[in-house]
Amino acid sequence: MSTRPEIVLVRGDITEQDADVIVNAANSSLLGGGGVDGAIHRKGGPAILAACRELRAGHYGGGLQTGRAVATTAGNLAARWVVHTVGPVHSREEDRSELLASCYRESLRVADELGARTVAFPAVSTGIYGWPMDDGARIAVETVRAARPASVTEVRFVLFDERAYDSFAERLRPV
Ligand code: ADP
Repeated sequence: MSTRPEIVLVRGDITEQDADVIVNAANSSLLGGGGVDGAIHRKGGPAILAACRELRAGHYGGGLQTGRAVATTAGNLAARWVVHTVGPVHSREEDRSELLASCYRESLRVADELGARTVAFPAVSTGIYGWPMDDGARIAVETVRAARPASVTEVRFVLFDERAYDSFAERLRPV
């Protein structure tokens, strides 16, 4: 039976989380980058990059599309899997909110299919990709609240700084 997963906020570094799945704010190349992506590859070791290269050599020859998600090993991290998702770059001209929501929905779906119980998310797109933190938090919380996974019981948002934490806390407040 599916239920609403509990939503937990943590201030910290996502690479230090003990969760079944750690979600990576990747880019479409899947071959590494800055921010969360750089930290995950640094700490997780070469096995993650090797798995990403295999994906590129196979079904994901053109890379991973924005809003989609795919799992690999978590290498040396405490997690069992890393789920890579590609957030949209923020735009003032075009509303890309649905793509950002899709990152959370698809990552959760992939994690759920793997049988994960705990999933740790960063604030996707709010770093290098420029998404305003308050709006990123709104989309993250609304999308996870609407999900009814079968195996995931806890969704943990891991926020790097106080501003990010406060934005998420504000969205989680009971109305
Ligand atoms: P994107 O390219 O999707 O914007 P980034 O990795 O640049 O992804 O940033 C996403 C968010 O994650 C930002 O709010 C950034 O401050 C935060 N962040 C960066 N490093 C870490 C980390 N090690 N753990 C958790 N959050 C992080």
